[in-house]
Amino acid sequence: MAYLNPSDKRMFFVPLGGSGEIGMNLNLYGYQGHWMMVDCGMSFAGDGFPGIDLMFPDPVFAAREKQNLLGMVITHGHEDHIGAIPHLWRRFECPIYATPFTAALITDKLVEAGLEEDVEIRLVEDDKSFSIGPFEVTYIALAHSTAEGHGLAIKTDLGTVFHTGDWKLDPNPLIGPVCPSGKLEALGNEGVLALVGDSTNVFNPENAGSELAVKQRLTELCAQKEGRVVITTFASNVARLDTVGEVAKATGRHLVLLGRSMKRIYKAAKSTGYLQNFPTVLDEEDAGHLPRERVLICCTGCQGENRAALSRIARDEHRYLTLVDGDTVIFSSKIIPGNELALGELFNQLAASGVQVITEKDDFVHVSGHPGQADLRDMYGWTKPKHAIPVHGEYRHLSKHADLARSFGVESTLVPQNGDVITISADALVKVDEVPVGRLVLDGEKVIAADDPAIADRRRASYQGFITISLVLADNGDLLADPQVAMLGVYSADPLMSHDIIINLIEDLLERMPQHEREKQETVGEKVRIAVRRHFRANQGKNPGVAVLVTYLED
Ligand SMILES: [Zn+2]
Ligand SMILES: [Zn+2]
Repeated sequence: MAYLNPSDKRMFFVPLGGSGEIGMNLNLYGYQGHWMMVDCGMSFAGDGFPGIDLMFPDPVFAAREKQNLLGMVITHGHEDHIGAIPHLWRRFECPIYATPFTAALITDKLVEAGLEEDVEIRLVEDDKSFSIGPFEVTYIALAHSTAEGHGLAIKTDLGTVFHTGDWKLDPNPLIGPVCPSGKLEALGNEGVLALVGDSTNVFNPENAGSELAVKQRLTELCAQKEGRVVITTFASNVARLDTVGEVAKATGRHLVLLGRSMKRIYKAAKSTGYLQNFPTVLDEEDAGHLPRERVLICCTGCQGENRAALSRIARDEHRYLTLVDGDTVIFSSKIIPGNELALGELFNQLAASGVQVITEKDDFVHVSGHPGQADLRDMYGWTKPKHAIPVHGEYRHLSKHADLARSFGVESTLVPQNGDVITISADALVKVDEVPVGRLVLDGEKVIAADDPAIADRRRASYQGFITISLVLADNGDLLADPQVAMLGVYSADPLMSHDIIINLIEDLLERMPQHEREKQETVGEKVRIAVRRHFRANQGKNPGVAVLVTYLED
């Protein structure tokens, strides 16, 4: 059953991901019986999910509304905005709207997932309005830490909502147009009902800073160094990649690109008209033979990712490239909270080889792609929205953004949570309902619920260990063979935990059990399970998972 009905004259906003967290953005706008999705992103799963890398919002509500979902509109190509598309698109099967560079990144993912024949991508041009059902959408180019960041002006006959996407103000973004303050002012003069916007960096009291300034500093630093220089950054930061190319040219170094995503983004950027003056990229094999002071390496791994190029070089596991005393690694990137430990280890490995490490804490080698308070003040000043809904942040970011918006003259604000159904009208923002939201994870190649028992079992097994016991009994419940015990991740060298002790414990238990209980498979399984677990808890303070397999053989 449709949630909206065509005669309903309210505009709905329903965030299903990204409100209350930084990552996995997925939002719905609804009007007159139709839905439009904005972004479909992923997050990294974290330590609580052993064996899992990626997490997505569970778009059960959007999937249920599939017949009314007219399209997926993508603001830009960061993973937290496009990363879930290949894994979730089958649930929606709607066309995708994106600008060329973003579309190239999405196509890469679709090809990998074998979906490229099925998905229709409609290319969008900046500033050219197009209709998706009752919505008239205009992409407005804004600076961000990847090429082709966009805000969306979403117009209906009720008024315009400005969905900012991820953005910053940058007088010299190096790639893409400078901030279109004129267009934003024009939008404001026409009237903006509500601004739905990026809260990532609301605690920065200043502005985000400019790519040009980073370029100048990186050039200076690189010119001072005598050994090899490595610059690591997010591959998706095309302006930074362009900067590294310029730094190589300015300092007479040959450029090497390392890492799968670095090469993928380089290819997508080249094919869509960026990096046209980029220097020739040298093969890593050849770079190994050049004098150290003639080499600049740009690589992935700026968050200490274990399998990324930089970590492999630091561990001296790279086939062609090594770092030694006198070389320098510049982290031209933000240190994302949660990655400090992995990065600390990487810094130690590099320092142990005499390599100098420079991060954003040491020097001006990075600027953010998200608006600080000064940028937000300008944005609100230009667009003059009546209401504001902060998104793209944890609760503390959203509520701070709401405070700021009110201080900039916005009439009312609403801090959303994933699953809230919010109506937007000239009068007010009102939460009218809640729809189910959950989390999905990619387990190998399968998308499953994050709270699936398989994940809980795996977590228990990884923290507590796992014991499997096999019993073969006669019909009357007598043991026909010694119990078999297999332990995984359990400390069993302790004499109290030896196989013999466990087997004795099971035999004693079965002997004490009345025959009518021993004849029942579930009763035997449950009692043995509880006794073994109790034994481990009492003697080791551990709670291993225990599985008991009971087989009855006829005499
Ligand atoms: Zn982004
Ligand atoms: Zn984002």
